[in-house]
Amino acid sequence: MTAISTPNSFIRQIVVDDNASGKHGGRVATRFPPEPNGYLHLGHGKSIGLNFGIARDFAGTCNLRFDDTNPAREDVEYVEAIKEDVRWLGFDWAELRHASDYFEVFHRCAIKLIETGKAYVCDLSADEVREYRGTLTEPGRDSPYRTRSVAENLDLFRRMRDGEFADGARTLRAKIDMAAGNINLRDPAIYRIRKLTHQNTGDAWPIYPMYDYAHCISDAVEGITHSLCTLEFEDHRPLYDWFLDQLDLPHDRALSDPLRAAGFACEPGTPQQIEFARGNLDYTVMSKRKLMALVQDGLVDGWDDPRMPTLSGARRRGFPPAAIRTFWERAGVTKQNSVIEYGVLEGCVREVLDAEAPRRLAVIDPLKLVLTHLGADHAETLRFPNHPKNEAFGERDVPFSRELWIEREDFMEEPVKGFHRLVPGGEVRLRGVGIARCEDIVKDATGTVVELHCTLDADTRPGQPGADRKVKGTIHWVSAKHAIAAEVRLYDRLFDVADPDDDSDGKTYRDHLNPASKRVVRAWLEPSLAGVPVESTWQFERLGYFVADRRDHRTDAAVFNRVVTLRDAWAKVAPR
Ligand code: ATP
Ligand code: MG
Repeated sequence: MTAISTPNSFIRQIVVDDNASGKHGGRVATRFPPEPNGYLHLGHGKSIGLNFGIARDFAGTCNLRFDDTNPAREDVEYVEAIKEDVRWLGFDWAELRHASDYFEVFHRCAIKLIETGKAYVCDLSADEVREYRGTLTEPGRDSPYRTRSVAENLDLFRRMRDGEFADGARTLRAKIDMAAGNINLRDPAIYRIRKLTHQNTGDAWPIYPMYDYAHCISDAVEGITHSLCTLEFEDHRPLYDWFLDQLDLPHDRALSDPLRAAGFACEPGTPQQIEFARGNLDYTVMSKRKLMALVQDGLVDGWDDPRMPTLSGARRRGFPPAAIRTFWERAGVTKQNSVIEYGVLEGCVREVLDAEAPRRLAVIDPLKLVLTHLGADHAETLRFPNHPKNEAFGERDVPFSRELWIEREDFMEEPVKGFHRLVPGGEVRLRGVGIARCEDIVKDATGTVVELHCTLDADTRPGQPGADRKVKGTIHWVSAKHAIAAEVRLYDRLFDVADPDDDSDGKTYRDHLNPASKRVVRAWLEPSLAGVPVESTWQFERLGYFVADRRDHRTDAAVFNRVVTLRDAWAKVAPR
């Protein structure tokens, strides 16, 4: 409830003020209105968090509304994916709606506009309309069809609706002002002819309404109080208001009685459009169109490729939904466009996973280490805490034996300055075991080190007098005999420049794909990771956070994705 007493954004302040003034009778109703023409991306997460968050915090409602007025680009696959993504982010809708639910309403409203002299059928082609529209500095010119009689307009519009005319032959246009400073008010189209099959309404309609017209009516029908959208719609707000003023839906009983009878809110009080800045992240692109191109051209492995900035990609990558919600809450809601560093999002992911992910041992680039003085059948079971900062996670058994896998990079035959791990003749602490000394190295015919022969200082085992003996490095390991094999996918940023959208150098975002964004390795995991559920997340000590891949991970074939490294590797190489 603190959200109500201390609003943290100008939009929440507006809601508080409206509640105080009784503008909407204390009601708060929002909606999230995606067009089902692709998968949702991280930017949509901002809008979802905002709309559903306000409804939650002000005891209001939020609808999920599919803005499906353009059947050329839309598909049920996207509808299902969007529903799943919204739920995954932790939200649920009051009502599931489609703009297409209101096709009859839009049509009746159009007839009202024609009858009141506020709309006309225009025969200009798309090119001619453009030519007549004028420019920012020049007024437009009236269409020669602007003065058609109401009767003629009604007749032509009926015939448009009956499918008599070809695609693009005519449009229905609002009659506003061809000299308006705001070009959006220069007689914008309301309906166009498109003989396309619609996913919900089939072939019932050969004409489809335009976004600006359909959106405000949909809001009014649903009784939306605060219609939140991104800044590019600021110049469309006068049109939003104009349509609603002309139609006066709640008070026009001929229009609203059938709606109310059909269970639609159609509350009095006009929805208010409020614009906010889009959320942007560096090192990524966030446009369904561009993401679609990456998928269609096979540059990524589908919409839910763990490198994709889609919500389904983030999910498969192992980003916790709470991290995405927190990220956008911290980013705030303003009218100022800005770009947030990708590292900030990763920071939120680390924060959640640090608290929630149990620790495990895994080796992703294995090198054999043999404790030569132990017997071949030497077997011990060690106890490891599952979380260093939270005892509630408990402990687990970790088998220890003569042959271990360690990380190849934890050994250097010729150490560079400052290397504190294992070197020939040197010592290192094996995590939870004690101090090992490298006595000998074994190489294959090519000179590659394939095995390290070590001895363990028994006096440094846990509980022994020398357990606290200082040694510079501590490394992790897994028992070779007990380890389970896994495919591990190491992901990095999909783009290697901060602003892939910047094409001023003649290159496009497709030229900036990071070739090192995916690396697949064979890894060895401690046996307690056998059979963990898909989507479970773990910290592999020293390596990062990992998730069991929701598509490919099986009980008998483990597949893990690296969610994020433990520290931000990009902060160093790419100062910003
Ligand atoms: P895209 O260009 O990626 O397709 P869009 O705005 O056309 O984005 P819609 O499906 O129309 O996508 O968006 C649904 C809602 O999400 C809209 O209210 C839109 O303003 C909002 N939205 C889209 N992208 C962002 C973003 N980056 N930040 C905040 N809100 C966004
Ligand atoms: Mg869109």
